[in-house]
Amino acid sequence: MAKHKKIYLDDSEMPKQWYNLAPDLPSPLNPPLGPDGNPVSPEQLAAVFPMNLIEQEMSQDRWIDIPEEIREHLVRWRPSPLIRAYELEEALGTPAKIYYKNEGVSPAGSHKPNTAIPQAWYNKQFGIKKLTTETGAGQWGSALSFACSVIGGIECKVFMVRVSFEQKPFRQMLMNTWGGTCIPSPSTETQAGRDILAKYPDTPGSLGIAISEAIEAAVTDETGQTRYTLGSVLNHVMLHQTVIGLEAKKQLAKVGIEKPDVVIGCCGGGSNFAGLAFPFIYDKINGADIQVIGAEPFSCPTLTKAPFIYDNGDVAQMTPMMAMHSLGHNFVPAPIHAGGLRYHGMAPLVSAALRDNLMEAQAIHQSECFEAGLLFAKTEGIIPAPETTHAIASAIREAKKAKEEGKEKTILFNFSGHGLMDLVGYDKYLNGQLHDYEYPDAEIALNLEKLQGYPLPK
Ligand SMILES: *Cc1c(COP(=O)(O)O)cnc(C)c1O
Repeated sequence: MAKHKKIYLDDSEMPKQWYNLAPDLPSPLNPPLGPDGNPVSPEQLAAVFPMNLIEQEMSQDRWIDIPEEIREHLVRWRPSPLIRAYELEEALGTPAKIYYKNEGVSPAGSHKPNTAIPQAWYNKQFGIKKLTTETGAGQWGSALSFACSVIGGIECKVFMVRVSFEQKPFRQMLMNTWGGTCIPSPSTETQAGRDILAKYPDTPGSLGIAISEAIEAAVTDETGQTRYTLGSVLNHVMLHQTVIGLEAKKQLAKVGIEKPDVVIGCCGGGSNFAGLAFPFIYDKINGADIQVIGAEPFSCPTLTKAPFIYDNGDVAQMTPMMAMHSLGHNFVPAPIHAGGLRYHGMAPLVSAALRDNLMEAQAIHQSECFEAGLLFAKTEGIIPAPETTHAIASAIREAKKAKEEGKEKTILFNFSGHGLMDLVGYDKYLNGQLHDYEYPDAEIALNLEKLQGYPLPK
């Protein structure tokens, strides 16, 4: 066979270190700030996260060793295959070579277990017995439930955004199967949840609300053995995901490709994008010519429309203020949108990469995304998660551009997850029930008005 469809690495070739972009940024990261406007100390975060992860969060080391026990869990599905999208290329008639890193092969079906495993492991090392978290579409809740179950000895409690809880019963069943507990948010179990329900009894919920609930549930546990976990946004999450890009580099080298021309990821909180892109941004900082694109929905245009500001990560302002692109912590996304990618903020590291012109951002409408997802499903065969379709739509745009320019570019994108649990979204699209929605500028302005008096990042 002339075609080389799948590029595998041996188990032994899985990365032994994570890559941390923080020390390589041209201008330094703005530190997270407490309510008094001063940088938060590690001790101030200690009720929320274990100290070993706080150290990673603040680390300025470029390379961080992956503990052997974590590698032994990751190797259950890693290294993930790099796949050449020959059939998609053919359908597009493009001279471009399109490669995707298939993160849908993990047990939970997305890239999220790449950080769920280390987070559960570091918490266990620190003596933690229970983890709380929030989940939007249910991917993170299931990834963490999986991780707690295989690592053992840690309970997992998930606050799931209400609208998704109702629309996605299969994700709850996954969590329950792995031994996790999942309840709809806002709930009556926390003060934050009760406050929101009193004001807005019919709210569809949001990640910002669910985060407040999960943090409250962690810090109010009097045994001191509960901590909170976040599936995206934070520096240590970006760090854990870099196995994706580090593997992709080795895999491209195996087929004689020195560097991709374009690297693409979809952006919710930024972690799967960062996981693939940061190791290539490292090359870019060191002189390589690589275009890096973050693709996001028009309905939640964090990178393309929201300002770079200090904002809290949650509605109840329990998190420190982080320097990031933010639509305002009061943002409640339109429930009509089918996919994830609906968080109001963007990872501080990704926001800094955009500030420093190490990447560019694109907003795409959901009809273009679903169309791209269907073309991918019908050609490559794998049904992508609705989030992933943003990366596919962006890759298709670049492949069409390459065709117009007659250039044989190498396009690499992150296939962040499969969509087998998201078929209701496809069904709605096929029945003409999904509509494009652009988050109104006036709404953004209104959310941001509430942030007057917040400090401004550099
Ligand atoms: C959670 C998720 C995303 C968005 O989160 P990021 O942190 O931006 O990666 C994208 N794709 C899939 C499949 C997801 O589960």
